[in-house]
Amino acid sequence: MTYVALSLGSNLGDRAQNISKMECLLKKIIREPVKRSSLMETEPLGVAEKQPWYYNRIITGNYEGSALALLDNLESLERELGRKHKGLLKSRTADLDLLLFGDAQIKTERLTIPHRGILQRRFVLEGLNQIDPDRKLPLKGKTVKWFFEHMDEEVKSQRINFIQN
Ligand code: AMP
Repeated sequence: MTYVALSLGSNLGDRAQNISKMECLLKKIIREPVKRSSLMETEPLGVAEKQPWYYNRIITGNYEGSALALLDNLESLERELGRKHKGLLKSRTADLDLLLFGDAQIKTERLTIPHRGILQRRFVLEGLNQIDPDRKLPLKGKTVKWFFEHMDEEVKSQRINFIQN
C-alpha cells in the first residue's frame, strides 16, 4: 500500500455534487485511512478566458498498485463524470490530480510527482495542512506544515472561500 494525496476539482455544473460524486467513486479505489480537507471555492489561476471559480477538496489515503495504474483510474473517473475537455486551463466537471505517491519522485511524459502545483496552489497547501501537516514531502525533506508556513507571497494571495459542509 502506498500513501497518496489527491486533488479534486470542478468548475462546471453542480460543483459540490461533482465533488461528492468523485469522492463516492474514489471509495472503490482509495483505501483507509482516508482523510478529507474542507471544501474550498478557489479562483481559477492563469486562465485566459473568464471561468467560474472551482470547488476543490484534498484527499489522502492508500493505494494498492502503481502510480500509473492510479493515474489510469483517475482519468477514467474523470471521463465517467462527463469531462469533455482535455488540456490545461479549460473548465471541467471533474479534475483529479495525483499530488503525492508515497515518497516517489517521478518525471515522465504522463506523470510528474510530486505534482507541479503542490507548492504553487494555495488550496493544495491549505488542504494538506488541514489533514496531514506532519507529512514529509519528497522536496527538501520538509513537512507540509513547513511549506504551508513558507508559502510564496503570490501563492498566499490566491483567493479562497472555505465552504461549510
Ligand atoms: P489536467 O488537464 O490538469 O487533468 O492534466 C492532465 C494531464 O497532466 C495528463 O496528460 C496527465 O498525463 C498529466 N499529468 C502529469 N502529472 C500528473 C499528475 N501528477 N496528476 C495528474 N495528471 C498529471
